[in-house]
Amino acid sequence: MSKLYLEKINKSYRIGETVHAVKGISLSFDECGLVSIIGPSGCGKTTLLNIIGGLDRYDEGNLSVDGNSTKEYSDADWDAYRSSCIGFVFQNYNLIPHLSVLQNVELAMSFSGVGVEEKKRKAEEALRKVGLESMMEKRPNQLSGGQAQRVAIARALVNDPDIILADEPTGALDSGTGLRVMEILKEISKTKLVIMVTHNIDLAKDYSTRMIELLDGEVVADDCLVEDKSTLDKRKSSKKLESKKCFMSPLVAFTLSFQNILMKKSRTFFTALAGGIGIIGVALVLALSGGLSSYMGGMQSDALSGYPITITTELENAPNGTKPDYVRYPDADVLYKDDESEYTTPHTNVLTQEYLDYIADIENVLPGSANAIAYSRGIRLNLINLVPEKRVVDNQFITSNVDKEVGVMGMGSTYMQVMPEHTDFLMAQYDLIGEESRLPSKENEVLLVVDEYNQMDVDFFNKLGISNSINEYKLTDFVGSAIAKVIPNDEFFTEKDGLYPIPDTKDYDRLAESSDGIYLTVVGILRPKANAAGNYFNEGVVCTTALTKWVQSQAETSKVALEQAAVDYDIHTGQPFEDDEARAKQMRRIGVDPMPTSIDIYSVNFNANDMIMLYLDVWNAGKTENEQVVYTNNATTLTSVTGSLISSVYYALIIFACISLAVSGLMIAIITYVSVVERTKEIGILRSIGARKRDITNVFEAEALIIGFIAGAIGIFISAVLIIPINAIILQTAGVANIASLGPVQIILLLLGSMTLTLVAGFIPARLAAKKDPVTALRTLE
Ligand code: ADP
Ligand code: MG
Repeated sequence: MSKLYLEKINKSYRIGETVHAVKGISLSFDECGLVSIIGPSGCGKTTLLNIIGGLDRYDEGNLSVDGNSTKEYSDADWDAYRSSCIGFVFQNYNLIPHLSVLQNVELAMSFSGVGVEEKKRKAEEALRKVGLESMMEKRPNQLSGGQAQRVAIARALVNDPDIILADEPTGALDSGTGLRVMEILKEISKTKLVIMVTHNIDLAKDYSTRMIELLDGEVVADDCLVEDKSTLDKRKSSKKLESKKCFMSPLVAFTLSFQNILMKKSRTFFTALAGGIGIIGVALVLALSGGLSSYMGGMQSDALSGYPITITTELENAPNGTKPDYVRYPDADVLYKDDESEYTTPHTNVLTQEYLDYIADIENVLPGSANAIAYSRGIRLNLINLVPEKRVVDNQFITSNVDKEVGVMGMGSTYMQVMPEHTDFLMAQYDLIGEESRLPSKENEVLLVVDEYNQMDVDFFNKLGISNSINEYKLTDFVGSAIAKVIPNDEFFTEKDGLYPIPDTKDYDRLAESSDGIYLTVVGILRPKANAAGNYFNEGVVCTTALTKWVQSQAETSKVALEQAAVDYDIHTGQPFEDDEARAKQMRRIGVDPMPTSIDIYSVNFNANDMIMLYLDVWNAGKTENEQVVYTNNATTLTSVTGSLISSVYYALIIFACISLAVSGLMIAIITYVSVVERTKEIGILRSIGARKRDITNVFEAEALIIGFIAGAIGIFISAVLIIPINAIILQTAGVANIASLGPVQIILLLLGSMTLTLVAGFIPARLAAKKDPVTALRTLE
């Protein structure tokens, strides 16, 4: 049985006109011997060889290998056939320039599942056979033509194929080196079938065992040159062809691409730079967005600290019915009369304990949405200063932030404000100034709030009894000292003829000496930060909720409160109340009614503000108008202006990032495509030594990944450098420090993103590369 059997093989090419390259050739080849194919240029020699080697497909006829027809071969079968049964040797060597001699030979084993160690050993052995053991680390372009061809032969031999196909192997060599190559082929032909295409009839006659002459795609002569075939060392064993499932390992794909990239360092650098420019855009957006969103968050929280959602018991202008749908900016020659009372109405909010619980629950239902919830109670805080000769008694109301009832006293008054439980939001707006300044934690500890000039109103000093000619104090004069004493109701109001009158000047000494009471000690001084709105507090004194609780609890059970609750006249004076409202106010002041008069909710941002309003609306759903609790959103104008500003900034950033990504992707797609075109020849070589389409795709995808990584690294590096001046400019213009920054998470994201991008962008070019016809690819001139 012959090794190869060709039966009426036909092959035509249709490019424009039809070229009938091989016309019904029938041939049979033995298991060994050196067969020369001669004939003029264009007669179909290469085509025939490529068909035998499975690089090209025959149109008609049949090719049998070891008696098995190849008619039903799949792509995978052909790949396996090429890789294990065939060794190709080409006229122009077809070595891969960016791999070393050793690597070129090893490459041929990358498609047959050979281990790294064994690959090296076999490649060295093959190179030794062709006398090139000293050249292993050289690059192909450092070799002479004869040496290069011997490397090609070593590569063809390394998988121990049964058939060596050589297409004009000596065509590019001078006669001396040509002979050396022929000697090697002759030696190989003792155990393998060598089919060689040549122009050199003399050489063919000297070395061949058989000579086939082609003309116009047909066999015109077929001569046996060796009579006694028995002298040939016949080998019986023939390898069984198995369709292998093994393929190029990712490591090999990466090595191939990496070596190629190393060969073209500057080209790679510039292409990666091009890709990196797109990444810079994305990196900057990413770097900015973190800082920007926390800045914007801070800005919103800051802005909202002056515009809470307010719920007061008495609301002058609650919405009532629908506001007429006026046309904005009318062109008509008109002037309307606007009467607010037509669509608003005074409304009384009845604040129940249930509602207070509902408000307190905001922290659980919408965690993190409110910076502070402040309650105004209008309860009396009985204060006396500590300077005997300038004794002043003051009846401060404990307020939340700004108590509407004492608002008439204006800025700079010393009424007592309550510090919210969450202080992060305060500390974003205020600095603690002065030595040993700290936040209060107990009922006897208070803060002073000064303005940006470290000023406090003169009224404050008057009330403390320290008004004199001194205009300047030290901060440390206050920090650590007691400034006033809070006196419980039972000490403050003493019974006199069934009434509890407000103490007058002659009672002051008694009050000062009273045993009960809390001495208020300043523990810190707050000043608004330079860039913060800082309008949560007015200048004055800030106490803790611990103090308000103490005041509330002693008042509730005080005699004066219990008495007031029992009678319908003013317990201080014995005079009747002017109206119900005056009585209610008195009840709150004295501590009988613990319900707050107003609640201020400070949202962290506009979004949270909306959510909280929605939550408040839910309470009102299904309730009658009288039962409803109507709130006022003080931030209406603020949200619409700032909110749209913020979203336009974000849109601009996102569009910028998208454009960057698109540019980057396109760059990389073009680069990968150029690389495919450049490496067409390499694709052909890889296919000729058994690479599957999938392997080719892998090689180019690996290259895209490497370039993507480099592009990402370059982009990140340049961005990191750019961030320095960007931050400096923003600090100069907007006064915000370190707004842009790249953390490790962003860096990893960018690298992965860049690699994904290149993988996606390189996908089509890599597919194109795999689709390339190996024969055409090999014909490409380098
Ligand atoms: P030889 O190797 O004997 O010089 P070839 O086998 O290369 O000849 O070519 C035989 C004929 O087939 C030539 O006319 C050539 O132009 C044509 N041919 C070979 N390969 C292709 C191809 N891939 N596309 C179109 N025509 C081809
Ligand atoms: Mg040819």
